[in-house]
Amino acid sequence: MFKLLIIGAGGVGTVVAHKAAKNPIFTDILLATRTKSKADEIAKAVGGGRIKTARVDADNVPELVALMREFKPDLALNVALPYQDLPIMDACLEAGVNYLDTANYEPKDEAKFEYKWQWAYKDRFEKAGLTAILGCGFDPGVSAIYVAYAAKHYFSEIHYLDIVDCNAGNHGMAFATNFNPEINIREVTQKGRYWENGKWVETEPHEIHQPITYPEIGPKESYVIYHEELESLVKNFPTIKRARFWMTFGQEYLTHLRVIQNIGMARIDPVMYNGVEIVPIQFLKAVLPDPKSLGENYTGLTSIGCRIKGLDKEGKPLTYYIYNNCDHEKAYEETGTQAVSYTTGVPAALGAAMFAEGVWKKPGVWNVEEFDPDPFMAQIGPQGLPFHEEFNIDLEV
Ligand code: NDP
Repeated sequence: MFKLLIIGAGGVGTVVAHKAAKNPIFTDILLATRTKSKADEIAKAVGGGRIKTARVDADNVPELVALMREFKPDLALNVALPYQDLPIMDACLEAGVNYLDTANYEPKDEAKFEYKWQWAYKDRFEKAGLTAILGCGFDPGVSAIYVAYAAKHYFSEIHYLDIVDCNAGNHGMAFATNFNPEINIREVTQKGRYWENGKWVETEPHEIHQPITYPEIGPKESYVIYHEELESLVKNFPTIKRARFWMTFGQEYLTHLRVIQNIGMARIDPVMYNGVEIVPIQFLKAVLPDPKSLGENYTGLTSIGCRIKGLDKEGKPLTYYIYNNCDHEKAYEETGTQAVSYTTGVPAALGAAMFAEGVWKKPGVWNVEEFDPDPFMAQIGPQGLPFHEEFNIDLEV
């Protein structure tokens, strides 16, 4: 008997619900979100009465605790927004529930993502005998599990890590974001940051870029941006001399982004409009396409992986590339969402299964790379995201 509470019924929540419903280890599944009708739609699409639904405001700890006391979940899987991480963790502690998420906490009034707020819960989760699994999407998530797998099986020391994230898909819209527009725009308009020789190096947004060749896709201009798994990876793999995160952006996307910023629509502070306070980026989200709606006409592939240089188990130089390619159309066929939601939701549902199976269970707050990668890697292919490995190749970066 294992009761799973999923919080958030967006693109990622849809995939988690579909995947969890297929896994008999989850005996009871409750999908709770702010707008219950969205959860109801997903439950209907999944079918078979497998998913129950509820309304919850995940910013409200007492509401969450009441829901948890009623449903009595073993694990709360948070695929709402990063703002809700801490209230959900607080509720988990109060109601005695384990926790998993796919994105680290961000304060609403500061576009800054850091693990310090969630790591500060470590002692409390440990004392309560509860497990919190942080960052179990694709990146963060599979990207960090790839690193743990490389360290366990191939490397004695990892020196250079480049996480490369390409979306070569086409949704046919002039401008749209692939996951929550507010979170996405906050992420990609930030200054760049990477780790080198023991310290963070800051860059202007999109300052460092070069073409990188992605398998079955070809060369795509890729930009160094800051991404949260860099923070935990350099802590957990201290031999890393340099760690960077690259993401592809099309010129059209970057032009729109620049205009959005220049005209103030990316602002996260409230402004008065007709006597009402509005936050420009939240208003923008309301008029942009819903990422969930992109799936229907989305074609092409995503390709996300890790390019690693270091020393092998015998101390000899080794280069290694591990990646997954995911097809937007296939993702849509299976779950009704595009590949960005799919690549996030599949690992989240599998992470929850790892906990339910007892292989990723240890009281405290942990990033995914701190668990044994093998049971996860054995199942991630059959779950829909197979990985490919290449050894001693030119890594380009
Ligand atoms: P969406 O915006 O599509 O969905 C978010 C869902 O959370 C919506 O159903 C929304 O409700 C709900 N929600 C928001 N606020 C609250 C609240 N206060 N209480 C209850 N429910 C709430 O986002 P995505 O599905 O695209 O992304 C979900 C998460 O996945 C995000 O945290 C994102 O950062 C993360 N992510 C992680 C990735 C990774 O690889 N690690 C990649 C992509 C995304 P409503 O419908 O009412 O707005």
